[in-house]
Amino acid sequence: MAALQTRLRNLARRVSASAVSTRTVRMVNQRPIASFSFDDFPKSAATSGAAILERRGFRGSYYLSARFQGLTEDGIDYYDSDDVVRLADYGHEIGCHTASHVHAPDLGRARLESELESNAAFLREALGDVRMTTFAFPFGDIDLRTKLFMQDRFAACRTTSAGINRDIADLGALRALSIYSGTTDAERLRAVVRESATPRSWLIFYTHDVSATPSPFGCTPELLQAAVDAVAEAGFDVFPVRNALGPIRFRT
Ligand SMILES: [Zn+2]
Repeated sequence: MAALQTRLRNLARRVSASAVSTRTVRMVNQRPIASFSFDDFPKSAATSGAAILERRGFRGSYYLSARFQGLTEDGIDYYDSDDVVRLADYGHEIGCHTASHVHAPDLGRARLESELESNAAFLREALGDVRMTTFAFPFGDIDLRTKLFMQDRFAACRTTSAGINRDIADLGALRALSIYSGTTDAERLRAVVRESATPRSWLIFYTHDVSATPSPFGCTPELLQAAVDAVAEAGFDVFPVRNALGPIRFRT
């Protein structure tokens, strides 16, 4: 019962947060844009996932929580500091996902501030003076208060609310689509890509591990490859989330 109440409360929060668009921009990009993001992030996302993007000349967004560094949890190996350095050197984005992967709506302001500051300090330790400019909500947990809090501190925030950003993008709560092998397949992803291959469209994908035997929150290399091939063949520009913020707002 408690679990059901928690689920209903989280659902209500998400609905209320996405119903109030408070940081909207009118998109102007003539070519559709796609972004690929990896949350937490497992080592396989930094190796197999990055390789699939890089073979096409694309770069991704990696949403980092300090807590996962060097960890093996539930059979998944997570990134180490060498992975972070290599990804950044190759032009991938390292974004913020809170230091301890928290349920943000449950925390007060001071704790949220310290979550962001310690995650930033962790990245400075690994990379020097590099700022994380975009954010992804851990667990997709968002309410209006945390949306306002995060959108004041980051250039853009990505949710797990399913959808395509079209015509108007809410930079405080960008919509995204999962690439999970357990819940989608190449045909469905190709259909989504076809449907969003229009001007003023931004399709953001997210996943976790990229493995032949993926977790429920990950995908096979073949499925990621299918999504990457689909956007490439449909003429999308592919940018990390931070790099898409210019093209959606300003004509080039
Ligand atoms: Zn996460």
